[in-house]
Amino acid sequence: VAEPRELSDDPPVLVCCTGWTAVSPHLGRLEAAPLGPGEAGARALRLAAEGDGTALVFRGHVQLRSGSRLYVRARHVVDLDKARRLSPLNRRDFARIVDEVHRQLLRGARRAEREAMTRAAAKLKRRWNDLGPRATARQIEEVAQVVLGIARSPALARVVEGPLVSRALRVAADSRRAARKESVKPLLDVADRAAVARIGRDQTFWVMNEYGRRARAWARDAAPIIRDGLAQGLDARTIATDLQAALGRRVSGRSEAYFRTVANVAMTRGRSYGQLTGFRDGAVLEYQWSAVMDEVTCPVCAFLDGQIFSTSDAIARMARVEAAPSPDAAAAMDSFYSVRGDRIVVRSSGTEVARFRRDDDGAPTGFRALTPIRGTEGVTMPPAHEGCRCTLLPVL
Ligand SMILES: [Zn+2]
Ligand SMILES: [Zn+2]
Repeated sequence: VAEPRELSDDPPVLVCCTGWTAVSPHLGRLEAAPLGPGEAGARALRLAAEGDGTALVFRGHVQLRSGSRLYVRARHVVDLDKARRLSPLNRRDFARIVDEVHRQLLRGARRAEREAMTRAAAKLKRRWNDLGPRATARQIEEVAQVVLGIARSPALARVVEGPLVSRALRVAADSRRAARKESVKPLLDVADRAAVARIGRDQTFWVMNEYGRRARAWARDAAPIIRDGLAQGLDARTIATDLQAALGRRVSGRSEAYFRTVANVAMTRGRSYGQLTGFRDGAVLEYQWSAVMDEVTCPVCAFLDGQIFSTSDAIARMARVEAAPSPDAAAAMDSFYSVRGDRIVVRSSGTEVARFRRDDDGAPTGFRALTPIRGTEGVTMPPAHEGCRCTLLPVL
């Protein structure tokens, strides 16, 4: 978007009516399609799949004197959700949404990891054998700093936060529309957008924290690898290869599962929030927790299944969480649950909310409530824990 004054300083010099272009605003990528509309459509589909599910096809552009181009009006908007009719309230569709976000997160994170590994490897290429113990320690520290840098990298924050926030907003908006049973205006208002964006940002914070934790653990692993390598008379190249393998396991080894959890938590929160605001709009005063009851349902979700909560209480809690000074504070105020022996506890405070036993097949049963949930910091909307498959139903 340019100011009118800037535009008049940079006047159009060429109008091209025939060129086709596919654009993903989310990825910030633009691809020319010299072969025409078919190619532009195919490129737009690919960009949509790689990005946030949408892409635009433009025909023609206006070239400015400075060389930049203006794309005036989109000919087509590719919207993969619409094409596939993915509904976040449908379990299978929801799983596909989480899958897609998971893939985007992995792709983005791997790029950032690769760059850090390349920088770390460049530092490892020096000749270890010539170094004394103190110089070696310094060198390990230098490499560790590069790896720790992944956790602070704005590039990583962007590739993680981007898909999480944009997708959580869409999931929330679609869930709200579905909860109101209306086919129009899936929009969130400004306050709702801020609340859902916070969900994505908090998840990004946890990802960065996790990278920091793993990088520090790797720095601890590095010293014995180098010491033993030198003692065995290994050359610098071999030691560097060993270090990189250890680093790879530490940093990206578990990211497959970790990013699935992150994607699932963010999308489940977004869906719950959309449902809640939908209930509020539709004057639904209470809602019911609904778990998938099968052989892998955990005691937490089995206990919460069927419990009834007040919509306005939940909205008020959401607003408090949104105003929390830090992601840590937010997580403490709106905490997951854990199972400790035969008790279900609020993770942040340790408050015991229920006791249960197990039947002959090991399935949880015989729940006895110990503390009413509304008086604790325990969450009153899914997810109740990482990988939670629960959802909400309106009480009519
Ligand atoms: Zn569960
Ligand atoms: Zn659950």
